Amino acid sequence: MIGDFAVIPPEEAGARLSIDLDALAFNWRLLRDRAGGADCAAVVKANAYGIGIEMAVPKLLAAGCRTFYVAHLAEARRVRALTGDAVIYVLNGFLTGTAPVYAAHGLRPVLGSREEIVEWGEYAAAHPDAPPAAIHIDTGMNRLGLSPEQVAEVARALPFRPVLILTHLASAEDQADPSNARQLADFTRLRKHFPDIPASFCNSSGAFIEPVAAFDQTRAGVALYGANPVPGQPNPMREVVRLEAKILQIRDVPDGAAVGYNGKWTARGPRRLATLSIGYADGYLRSASGWDSKAAQGIKAGIALVGGVACPFAGSVSMDLIVIDVTDVPQDAARRGGLAVMIGDGLPLDEVAARAGTIPYEILTSLGRRYARFYRNA
Ligand SMILES: *Cc1c(COP(=O)(O)O)cnc(C)c1O
Repeated sequence: MIGDFAVIPPEEAGARLSIDLDALAFNWRLLRDRAGGADCAAVVKANAYGIGIEMAVPKLLAAGCRTFYVAHLAEARRVRALTGDAVIYVLNGFLTGTAPVYAAHGLRPVLGSREEIVEWGEYAAAHPDAPPAAIHIDTGMNRLGLSPEQVAEVARALPFRPVLILTHLASAEDQADPSNARQLADFTRLRKHFPDIPASFCNSSGAFIEPVAAFDQTRAGVALYGANPVPGQPNPMREVVRLEAKILQIRDVPDGAAVGYNGKWTARGPRRLATLSIGYADGYLRSASGWDSKAAQGIKAGIALVGGVACPFAGSVSMDLIVIDVTDVPQDAARRGGLAVMIGDGLPLDEVAARAGTIPYEILTSLGRRYARFYRNA
């Protein structure tokens, strides 16, 4: 095992996933610099956005990161096992009965409701060695966090002293969205109910909105892993993930040939196709399928690079296979046993996401467990 991933010999795997940990460290340092003097916490929820907690966290520690965020308690325990005294916050708060686990491992809950705060207060009153907790204020997500109307009353009757107050931006990747300024104004006003308590406001994209509202801590997730925090502008982050799939077969088909399930792609003229050993069971989203109906509506579909040439998906992404059109690839570049680039190296993560009709977060956290994984610069 590498982390919680089974080791699959490269010659037996359909595709290879290479993760550049130096790029991860570079990205953390860039985000730390964006935070000015504030603490730059690394968000490593969902197995470090799919790249692997056990490999990401030691690299981030070595780069100087001392604060980590996860979503689940089980993830927090994995981070704790890798770190001595790092600060670990659990974003999804806490459920009844789990407080002793937080205490046993020195984990900090991010409390996001009145009920959580009351229950945590009862536990902390009975257990003076209980870890400190953060409080989440909702300024526009309606997901987790105290509503603005609750803040004053809860703050007045707080059963413990929190170590951090945070809120989460709803539309930070769109710098022009007026909700960013409104959330900042609301947070700035609401946190005054917690005098002298440190605060945290920005996610990855938030840390690129000038002037940076870093407060005492930023919480960087997706940009650490190479996604562009300001879509539409040049990506300042380095690519962390590179995914390549093996070519199983090359075939020539005549005009009108239908490809894949339900024949959703048909050849316009004679075409040369390559069948790749990767599919949705590997986490490659089926929504990137190359269908005639999408092309007719101008909807982009997936591509792969072979010999540096962009090759459109031909037909549906199936469970274990994707067919691509390699007609424009020089003869010997597309061959059985060769590789097609699926992510990285001229095919950025953000573009892969757009072509699947989704966001880079989903591409990363869907990365499958059947790849031969290579961790570079561990
Ligand atoms: C996931 C998450 C983050 C990290 O967000 P990115 O957009 O990935 O940088 C920060 N804060 C909270 C509350 C989150 O849930």
